[in-house]
Amino acid sequence: MRNLQRRVYENAPIFLQNILLSLDGYKKTKNLYGNIYYSHLIELENKQHSNAEEAKQYQETELRSFIQYAVEKSSFYKEFYKGVDLSKIQTVEDLKKLPILTKEMLKNNIDSIYTNPKNSVVRTWTSHKTGTPLKLLFTKEDIQKKLAFRDFYRKQHGAVNLEMKRASFSSRWLIPMQQQKRLFWRDNLYVKQRLYSTHYCTEEYTALFVSDLEEYKPDFIDGLPSALFEIAKYINKHKIILSFKPVAIFTVYEKLHPQYRSEIEEAFGCPVRDQYFSSEIMPFISECVRGKLHYNLFSGVLEISKEGDIIVTCFTTQGTPLIRFNAGDEIELSKTQSKCECGSIHPVVKYTNNISAGYLHSKSKGKLTSIYFSRIWNMFPDSIEKIQFIQNSMDSIDVFIEGAENYTNSITELIHETMEYTFGKDMTFNIRIVEEIPSIAEKEFQLVVNNIARENKCL
Ligand SMILES: [Zn+2]
Repeated sequence: MRNLQRRVYENAPIFLQNILLSLDGYKKTKNLYGNIYYSHLIELENKQHSNAEEAKQYQETELRSFIQYAVEKSSFYKEFYKGVDLSKIQTVEDLKKLPILTKEMLKNNIDSIYTNPKNSVVRTWTSHKTGTPLKLLFTKEDIQKKLAFRDFYRKQHGAVNLEMKRASFSSRWLIPMQQQKRLFWRDNLYVKQRLYSTHYCTEEYTALFVSDLEEYKPDFIDGLPSALFEIAKYINKHKIILSFKPVAIFTVYEKLHPQYRSEIEEAFGCPVRDQYFSSEIMPFISECVRGKLHYNLFSGVLEISKEGDIIVTCFTTQGTPLIRFNAGDEIELSKTQSKCECGSIHPVVKYTNNISAGYLHSKSKGKLTSIYFSRIWNMFPDSIEKIQFIQNSMDSIDVFIEGAENYTNSITELIHETMEYTFGKDMTFNIRIVEEIPSIAEKEFQLVVNNIARENKCL
């Protein structure tokens, strides 16, 4: 059915695509921005001046009800916590009495971890260290609360979602491959959003994007930093003075490199604010006015294990409860928490150096981070056991797949089509279905292996 919708959209004229997108936006908006969203937004506003003690109390109340919910609704947790006196889990410190949930356990028990499979939204999450797509389910409450966290944070930086004009630089599939017209954006009118396709944010087309932004004059911008960097480079190189100034630019889903930030801030004359990208499984992590990343205590608990791994309890995962989940070591929680100059009570976190989620090269579209090709495993979480991308030359990319029982040749065809859409038709893609993905001697598994970058460290 999703494929049918896609074909209808692909073959419609652009004006109709805008209508279809807005209708879809309208339908989604009703589910996304419902009563839970608004009441949570108000709650966050009311709590913004809490002192440390009040914040801790609120966090622990949320924690207790989250654990209770998981044990009542998830058969896995009922069994997992057998023998633990849950009445003794009252505080964040008490949480340590509960066992850690590993990635392996999550994968092997996922069906019994789900709490409400019938009324949930599916999101796929893949750890870069396992390459196994996991189908996480989220309740309506999870989705709306998460959005309220995001919009509350943006409001603190001056951007009011749904009321102000928003420009989003998105890697989602938006522009049909066969389109001849050089119009690489679409409108989602219902939420006052213009979506710019980052697939076309390359040197060849940046001038078109800049002139459309000039016409649209967004109040705020969000999206992939790598694409915004390309636009910003063009603006700065040609010394263009924009006729509008966004209140802020919010980067998502990719690492924000320091050079991206300075180039974007110079071009648009406004601050760039970053949000931690692995948002499906994490408590809400975002940047304050002083440029520090804080994790929001009201959205979960972060702990550091003895081995230095980050242990996550995320309150907005009711559909697939993550309690003391070992998410690996992508961020660091400072052991000695000194208070940030912004005055926030929420703890400061830092990216660790090894957070390169990986990228591959295309011949004509530059470097592409894994967010671009994540669609491949997101489309088939039930059919792919494990996936890996390897690039040894600029001309081709190898994709290794361990297929599940229901894997079919038509999936290979769709993957090939998506690779062409993402990387361009001027490359070849070798999709290999294997019993077991060969391991690279003595190296930890990586979802993305870019041997070109390894050989030419300057890239
Ligand atoms: Zn701060």
